[in-house]
Amino acid sequence: MHLDQEQARGRIAVFGATGSIGASTLDVIARHPSRFRASVLSAHQDVEGLIALCVRFRPDIAIIASEAHYTALRDGLAQAGLGTRPMAGSQALSDVAGSDACDTVVAAIVGAAGLGSTLAAARAGKRILLANKESIVVAGALLMRAVAESGAELLPVDSEHNAIYQCLPTPAIGAAARPGVRRVVLTASGGPFRGWRREQLANVTPEQACAHPNWRMGRKISVDSATLMNKGLEVIEAHWLFNAAPDAIEVVVHPQSIVHSLVDYVDGSTLAQLGNPDMRTALAYGLAWPERIEAGVPPLDLAAIGRLEFQPPDERAFPCLRLAREALREGPGATTVLNAANEVAVSAFLQGGLRFLGIPEVLQSTLARLHERGAGDLPSLLELDKQARRLADSLIRHEA
Ligand code: NDP
Ligand code: MG
Repeated sequence: MHLDQEQARGRIAVFGATGSIGASTLDVIARHPSRFRASVLSAHQDVEGLIALCVRFRPDIAIIASEAHYTALRDGLAQAGLGTRPMAGSQALSDVAGSDACDTVVAAIVGAAGLGSTLAAARAGKRILLANKESIVVAGALLMRAVAESGAELLPVDSEHNAIYQCLPTPAIGAAARPGVRRVVLTASGGPFRGWRREQLANVTPEQACAHPNWRMGRKISVDSATLMNKGLEVIEAHWLFNAAPDAIEVVVHPQSIVHSLVDYVDGSTLAQLGNPDMRTALAYGLAWPERIEAGVPPLDLAAIGRLEFQPPDERAFPCLRLAREALREGPGATTVLNAANEVAVSAFLQGGLRFLGIPEVLQSTLARLHERGAGDLPSLLELDKQARRLADSLIRHEA
């Protein structure tokens, strides 16, 4: 490849490369070698997985967030004969996200651990493909301000928000007033326990919760889908991305996951984006925007699907959606607390230390007991996150 062709290729940093979104992103990148290059890859602890990706994609930099794994990464890259530079630690994630090692950052780390690199990319004016919804739930105001000030291109790749982005008039992101838009409607698959009564959920296992009917995803978001917290986080995400009032964000359960979300206009028009449930569509959209590229996703066969169903969410069996709406109405500090408590509760559930129905109880108790809401700047949000994690953890230990 000539030097000018090489320079014309978009350099993509994939943060969370070893995860489910990371794999889908790299699949799209691999389909367009003359257009994109994975210049940075990161993982948390999965050194073997990261090295294998480096062998395949030959990035300039590989970052392992857990510093204890640095030597293994360095030695593994050297043994594979790669010139990839090894780095470690969460500070390295932020430094590289904001550096000239990449033009585009795919924010696909799970949890608030993704906040630092997402924010650094926003401040540096990068194109950001945002999958890491927790970062906008924790620090939506800060992130949107950084995007506005730097001129970063924030492209949502959460499938619902990507759908809404495609159905809204431009500019879709953070626009102040959008005459003509009545509301946005997020679709929810309902998860593996759709239609179950509360009593039936008492003894469900992590394996059942992670067996999503339509999507193959990481374990944390799979549990969030099962509790409907994922949809709660997405309501908060939609509020920040699209500057939508809480009352102008609806949720409808749609078991087939074909209609990814909708926008209602005041004249009675409703625009929807449809497609097979495959994250590569949204990722290809974000990578190539405003153009369209092949994503490896088969075309929709509506006649084969036959029926598209819609129903209201059951907030009695799945109270997390209501808790998220309440936190959004209360303000930014409350959503930070909600997210932190949820990360702790989901992790405890996955490790067998908390019942499924204990998840919303932990969220509710943490929100009720932690009255401190902070000043809204980054240090106070991080402190609030830490306090909420400690409190949620002690509530869970108390219960066990
Ligand atoms: P996975 O669990 O599959 O992958 C998570 C990635 O983040 C892995 O690369 C993991 O590294 C890395 N990681 C985990 N913890 C840390 C940490 N503390 N510091 C740095 N890196 C870390 O998750 P998903 O790909 O499913 O989800 C990623 C994000 O995208 C989430 O925010 C999720 O809500 C969102 N999302 C996912 C969708 C999906 O279809 N999967 C759909 C829409 C949104 P390691 O492998 O080493 O643990
Ligand atoms: Mg989603």
